[in-house]
Amino acid sequence: MDRKPASADDVAAGTDPGLATTLIHHGYVPPAGFAAVMPGVHKASTVLFKDTAALRQRQWKDKTGYTYGLHGTPTTFTLEERLATLEGGRQTLLAPSGLAAITLVDAALLQQGDEVLLPDNVYGPSRDLARHELAAWGIAHRFYDPLDAEGLAALITPRTRLLWIEAAGSVTLEFPDLLGLIEQARQHPQLTIALDNTWGAGVAFNAFDLPGGMAVDVSVHALTKYPSGGGDVLMGSVTTHDEALHLKLKLAHMRLGLGVGANDVELVLRGLPTLALRYAAHDASARRIAQWLAQQPQVRQVLHPALPGSPGHEHWQAVSSAAAGLVSVVFAERYAAAQVDAFVDALQRFGIGYSWGGPMSLAVPYDVRGMRTLGGGHPSALVRLAIGLEDTDDLIADLQQALQALEGAA
Ligand SMILES: *Cc1c(COP(=O)(O)O)cnc(C)c1O
Repeated sequence: MDRKPASADDVAAGTDPGLATTLIHHGYVPPAGFAAVMPGVHKASTVLFKDTAALRQRQWKDKTGYTYGLHGTPTTFTLEERLATLEGGRQTLLAPSGLAAITLVDAALLQQGDEVLLPDNVYGPSRDLARHELAAWGIAHRFYDPLDAEGLAALITPRTRLLWIEAAGSVTLEFPDLLGLIEQARQHPQLTIALDNTWGAGVAFNAFDLPGGMAVDVSVHALTKYPSGGGDVLMGSVTTHDEALHLKLKLAHMRLGLGVGANDVELVLRGLPTLALRYAAHDASARRIAQWLAQQPQVRQVLHPALPGSPGHEHWQAVSSAAAGLVSVVFAERYAAAQVDAFVDALQRFGIGYSWGGPMSLAVPYDVRGMRTLGGGHPSALVRLAIGLEDTDDLIADLQQALQALEGAA
């Protein structure tokens, strides 16, 4: 702020301002050139302009300047640029949660009369959004089997404007035929391909540079999970590679008033340098646990994309060699839901709660039957484990003792 600082001149001129005025318009400017490991945290609703000309010429559609806190600060710009790099894209927008990022994509790219296609294992609240708000806005939705690219092709009509892909899918962790789905969708130029890339986190594969030169158009990420890494922050991102598509999303982002708090951005910036290390640690621990669980007599099936036999394992192999820290366990049919709940309650080293990506391992029981539209035979008692950063041996010992509770609660 270089306009009218309170200064010695004011004193000399006998126009010494009052204390409050002096403190608000204080003239001290710290020396330039400060350097530290972490970038500074800038907080603003109001952004000050040098003069009225600067105000009138304000430009908020790119990162050449600042206009209002909602349109970006050095802090949000820095995180956006780092996330674009992480995801292999060119532009990123921040949203207050992963779900808000999904909502932004739907609201920006769909209009009345359009149809959106969702994988049957889509993140649950995204399904609810389609069934309620999108339906109320005259936007239709249909579900497809993410393992069946031909089946997807049969569903696409001229009305279909947006295809969501999730890799791996929520709770049941089927890995979609990512390349096959993109190949089918690319036959239809009116169709935008959006990937919920939360599981891959920009680490497992590059969604804008997949084998065979394939790419998605939009990558959405719940930063709440691995980028934050703390189990304490809610944030989402929308990354693109195409400037026109980015601008469309950015205009909607501005009109919808989606802002994020600078201190939350700071925490995600702080988490990013250790993202790859943490992802690898979650991955290694989850694979050991998945393999151990697969050998237990109480377990019917372990769902984990890196485990041979898990649905979509070959599709995962086609694009990645890394996997996140999620493992879902389907118990033998002889166990009732109450016994599976007893197993979860007996766990000492796993918190019971939603979300994942933080240091603490978490467990949630699901009845998948009410969560899917297609097919049948979905398990009534599945436990999704989010493997944290505890010592793997401690987690396995804990699972082992909890399996006794499964037997006991009959
Ligand atoms: C958690 C999650 C979200 C939503 O993130 P929030 O920040 O909790 O809103 C979206 N998609 C997937 C796949 C998720 O796991």
